[in-house]
Amino acid sequence: MTLCPPKYEEIALERAETTKPPPTPVCADINNQIRHNPAHNYPDFDFAAYMRYRSYTLSTFNFGGSTCACFLDNGVHGIVANLAAQFPSTPSPTTPSFKIRDAKDKGLGVFATTSIPSRGTVFIEHPTIITPYLLGVSVPLAEMYTELFETLPKPAFALATSLTTLHQDSPKTKPSSQVSSLPPPSFYEDLMQTNSVAIDLQVPCDVPHREIVTHRALFLLLSRCNHSCNPNAAWSWDSSTLTLSLTALRPISPGDEVTISYIPPSPDHTMRQRVLQNAYGFDCTCEACTLPPYEANSRNTANIPEKSAIEEDNCDSDSDESAVYCLLPTFEEWCADPTLPDHILINAHKNALYEIELQNLHSLQSTPSIPTGATAQAIDHHVEAIAMCYGALGDVMNFRKWIAIAKEARVRSGAHREQKIVFNRWLSNPSSFPVWDSRKPY
Ligand SMILES: [Zn+2]
Repeated sequence: MTLCPPKYEEIALERAETTKPPPTPVCADINNQIRHNPAHNYPDFDFAAYMRYRSYTLSTFNFGGSTCACFLDNGVHGIVANLAAQFPSTPSPTTPSFKIRDAKDKGLGVFATTSIPSRGTVFIEHPTIITPYLLGVSVPLAEMYTELFETLPKPAFALATSLTTLHQDSPKTKPSSQVSSLPPPSFYEDLMQTNSVAIDLQVPCDVPHREIVTHRALFLLLSRCNHSCNPNAAWSWDSSTLTLSLTALRPISPGDEVTISYIPPSPDHTMRQRVLQNAYGFDCTCEACTLPPYEANSRNTANIPEKSAIEEDNCDSDSDESAVYCLLPTFEEWCADPTLPDHILINAHKNALYEIELQNLHSLQSTPSIPTGATAQAIDHHVEAIAMCYGALGDVMNFRKWIAIAKEARVRSGAHREQKIVFNRWLSNPSSFPVWDSRKPY
């Protein structure tokens, strides 16, 4: 086996410490968002200090013949370089079960070309572009994004830039030196904003002033998946192989569009529309959003026994929220079924945390606040569910990380002494956790 050495290309970027620190209110807002979103695992985050320790490198890596252009903090760069060397071949099936074609008013979409069974893998893909979640203020964004996209080989560049219809004058080929063919400076940044996926990288947590684990990634094919509030598939990210998998949640017929949900399930149509409009800039016209409520409810409920392989035991058929939730396996089903992806529930809960942050981000623009009430409860629920999954996987490092976050949240909301003792016992001896290592191996 020949490993392709990664190609490093350093670009000259001014170090953050040479510039003025950002205004205090900006730091306060960002600190608030990062510290209180457990997905980042950075409870003592300090944006001003964080920026002083960032130093970035632009590099390209080769994953099985496809190029991945990265703009990464130097503390993270080596992690991706090592993984690129370990996974040089393409992970996906050689005969794709889908094609990309016109999805009417949604632009292009992913459509099944063969029958895909429930829980069948539709596609597995490495990212084509990775950038930090949060960038230091001294990074020249337009220059960085332009260089990143133009590093891609021609076919990947054409696919990546056709992901958006934001600008009618988007480049179909790499811009030449002629000024007239250059895209607007914000083109690539807008493209990443609306098409990138939040991924975690395995950033060590015990390093001072470390990079946050969440990053943004662009995928040439899987970024084509359109949203539905009643999706037939789900993404799951695996940071140990740097791959995003698309898995069917129920049987998909040839000709069906393969859809995922960009947001956590919610029965509140108005809230779904607001989150989608704020975060992604579109009004959802999926079946769940456009059919009369009684019809959408009956179709959703009807879908569960007929189309989903998941049992109804935990479904409350009176609620369309539970109907949507039931498209994911329950914790018990996931533990018992080794054919389900290891990270399917973990990623669903992490995505939910990410979306809560997106909603907070918009509401925090005027008044910074610590999550309270229903938001805090939702965060606690997702954090504890993630810890439980890592416990079932017997993953000591991640289990301790998420139990520590859950414990801190409980302490903040006034946990009883007994609860603290239980959390401490699990932290010191993970195997005492009730469902420790209970997921069946594949
Ligand atoms: Zn919808």
